This record gives sequence, C-alpha cells and structure tokens, in this order.
Amino acid sequence: MSQNLRELLISKTEEYKDNDFVTSLDLQMLACNLLGVDRSKIFSSSLKLDHKKEDKLIDLIKRRSSGEPLAYILGEKGFWNIDLEVNPKVLVPRPETETIIEDVLFSFTKENLNILDLGTGSGAIGLALKKEKPKWEVYCSDISAGALETTKRNSIRNKATVHLVLTNWLEAFRKNFFDLIISNPPYIGQGDKRLDGDGLSHEPKGALVSGPDGKEDLLNISSKSLDFLKQGGYLYLEHSPDQSKQMKKSLENFGYTNIIQLRDLNGDLRVIKGCKE
Ligand code: GLN
Repeated sequence: MSQNLRELLISKTEEYKDNDFVTSLDLQMLACNLLGVDRSKIFSSSLKLDHKKEDKLIDLIKRRSSGEPLAYILGEKGFWNIDLEVNPKVLVPRPETETIIEDVLFSFTKENLNILDLGTGSGAIGLALKKEKPKWEVYCSDISAGALETTKRNSIRNKATVHLVLTNWLEAFRKNFFDLIISNPPYIGQGDKRLDGDGLSHEPKGALVSGPDGKEDLLNISSKSLDFLKQGGYLYLEHSPDQSKQMKKSLENFGYTNIIQLRDLNGDLRVIKGCKE
C-alpha cells in the first residue's frame, strides 16, 4: 500500500493548523527534500509515498513542530549568493544579515581589502563577500571549532577560499590590519523570551546570548576593533533594533566617525557602521 502525497499534505496541514511552527510551506519543503522533487511537482495527483517514506516524512514534520528550524532539518540554507550547510553548531543565517552584504558591496569598490568576519558561524558573511569579490582577502574567525569546521565545508562547497581562524574574538589578529571588521555577534539578553521562540530554542546559545541585556559582545567588539582596523577602516555590527540608540551612543563614545545605521528589510534599525579616523 502506498499513500498519495497530495492527500497526506492536506491532512497534515489540517492536523498542524494550530501549531506555532509548522506552515504549509514547511510541509511542502520537507516533502520536496525527502522525495528529491521540485515544489511544482508535489501536488501532482500521481505522486505516491511508500510506508517507509511516509513514516520518514511524518518524523520530519514532528521535528519541525517542536520548533527545530527548517534549515537544520533540511541541512542547508540559502544566503545572498550562496548555499550553506547548517547544523546545530551554527546559527541559521538570516535575511536581516544580508543588509550588511548589500551595504559593503555598495560602499567598498577597492580591489584589495582585508576583511574580517568575526564570529563567522556557518561562514555566511565572509563567504558571500568572497564569492562576490574574489580579490578581497577574507578572514573568517570563530571561537567554536565545530562552527569553524562548518565554515570550512561551506568554503569548499561554495568554492570560496578564506582564511579560517580559531580564536576568541580579536585575540589572534594583527593590529591596524583590517579595512573592514564585520560581525553578527550574539546580542540577545539572558532569559529573553525570544530564546524560546521558533528556531532559536534549537540554536547554539553561544551564538545568541551575550550577558544580561545582550550588549556584552557588541560593546567589547566595538571598543577592541579600533586597534585592529586600519585608519579609515570600518566596523559593521548587526544588533537588535532595540539596541540601536545605545549602539550609536557607544560608537560615538569610542571615537568612531561617519556613523551610519542601516535598516533591514522589515524596516528595523539592525546594523551600525562606523569609521576609525
Ligand atoms: N538575529 C537573531 C535573532 O534576532 C539573533 C542572532 C544574534 O544574536 N546574532 O533572531
């Protein structure tokens, strides 16, 4: 006996309609992934599942219904111009972070730049930039060996060669070396309710949480980066929209100039950049 996929998807959509996480698009993506078919094909009335595949699909849907990110279940996520392997050792790349890529590509046209993606995780920022600008020297650093192994696989997968550096923030680097330091550090406060929400509950806490109000690493990176940037170099930081006022003040206090704040696609202030004079 085999089950018709279309009917199964309709019945699962109904079954999970009150679940906070499972959307009908998730169900379709899981089915496509499992069967190796394009999304345009899955509603064809002729597509059948044998029992093994049906059980497997039901199992994947259960994982998603507990808030596990779709990207972890599928094992990959698209970001800017690349496809990245993702796993629970790295944060799932977010579209908000693409705000940084867009601005960097627009603002910096020189051929030879030294760029640091500080706390790279999957490698999203550094690898997307290297793919766009092969002449840039890109350094991807992380304190987590598991994360950096993922960055390495993503570098090979996307044919984008970067320097991989296992280090606690800026400890391993030379002073006055970088034209750009870019970071999407952890910026959520301990105990923040967002940590229980979709996806985040399964993501590595070390990549999400930074001190009681989420600002510890943001401030640490802002103050230390001045030593590691060249004169005229820029720091880019992603932060939470509710930290935008304090980030502007902090960058001013640390002595950055030309400070600009950027909005993500939701219209929220998500990124700040500042220049070392
Ligand atoms: N951007 C993530 C979120 O708000 C948080 C990631 C981070 O702390 N860098 O969901």
